[in-house]
Amino acid sequence: MSGLALREVSKRFGTFKAVDNVDLEVPHGTFVCLLGPSGCGKTTLLRMIAGLEEPSEGAILLDDKDITPVATHNRDFGMVFQSLALFPHLDVGENIAYPLRIRGQSREAQKKRVEELLALIHLPGYADRPVSRLSGGQRQRVAIARALALSPRLFLLDEPLSALDAKLREAMQVELRQLQEKLGITTIVVTHDQREAMTMADLVVVMGQGRIHQAASPVEIYRRPADSFVADFIGSTNLIEIEADRAGRATAFDAALPGIELPDGATKALVSVRPEDVRLVAKDQGAFTGRVNFVRDLGGTIETFVEIGDKTIVAVTTPRERTATVAGDEVGVSLPAESCVVLKQ
Ligand code: ATP
Repeated sequence: MSGLALREVSKRFGTFKAVDNVDLEVPHGTFVCLLGPSGCGKTTLLRMIAGLEEPSEGAILLDDKDITPVATHNRDFGMVFQSLALFPHLDVGENIAYPLRIRGQSREAQKKRVEELLALIHLPGYADRPVSRLSGGQRQRVAIARALALSPRLFLLDEPLSALDAKLREAMQVELRQLQEKLGITTIVVTHDQREAMTMADLVVVMGQGRIHQAASPVEIYRRPADSFVADFIGSTNLIEIEADRAGRATAFDAALPGIELPDGATKALVSVRPEDVRLVAKDQGAFTGRVNFVRDLGGTIETFVEIGDKTIVAVTTPRERTATVAGDEVGVSLPAESCVVLKQ
């Protein structure tokens, strides 16, 4: 397959396995986000792809060629790391031209390329500015331009936007995605921010404790989480345990969840239902009846916490759908079978 492929890649630090047997296929032109909580191995995986860290096991292939032994500077990858700052004593143009100069390109060629890149990052005319006079977002764009100067085969970024404030960060996510689309460059970004991953990625790779839990499109990750780790990490969800009787039918809490198929031979299953899929209905018209114990009205959305036996189910509605529920009310709750995802245990 053409593109990037990771084959059973692991990384040990002493006896600790930071990356555990990772397999991944990344077709050309894909925008990938490596997503997961702190310490899950995202950065270590990116560093192995970059050639900054050697895998303990496994192989990294680019267009079917094993690049595992190839040194970083021979991989032709562009990188933006949080710690890889701009050169403060050089102006914007000199920063961007730096990799071109190292490669011995002529002054004219450098100037032309810098102008192209400045246009691309929406900073035309900024070549002579001192770096010290740039805003945080502008610096980040210059770092991106510098990394792209040599038209790399792969673009790797580690938490590139984490130093920016929330608003600028959201704007830059869109900008980075648009830039990637324009160039069609295969891009891999490390982030711990699920919203960021959902905004930018074609392929979200959810990692936990060194393993890939799921690699799929943002919609798939959200609608069809593979396991409870993914369901819980992406957005918020209701996790409901279902038990089956000997005939494999759901029982107990969930007798009222028709249409849910448990895996063959399973006696228990965990089901994820997103809060926006939970329907609040009149008291005796749902699959369950419960008591509202809290309503959080956030303006755009309303979260209603309903106690059913010893469980609390959260429903998210919009003000338009609002049933005038208050704490203490009894309500009916329905969980449409098509929104209930049986998770791998
Ligand atoms: P964060 O979002 O906090 O940066 P991460 O998902 O990027 O986390 P990594 O930086 O890849 O995680 O680290 C994964 C694990 O490997 C962590 O437990 C970390 O302490 C450990 N680790 C990383 N680099 C080394 C090293 N050089 N020596 C020993 N342990 C390391």
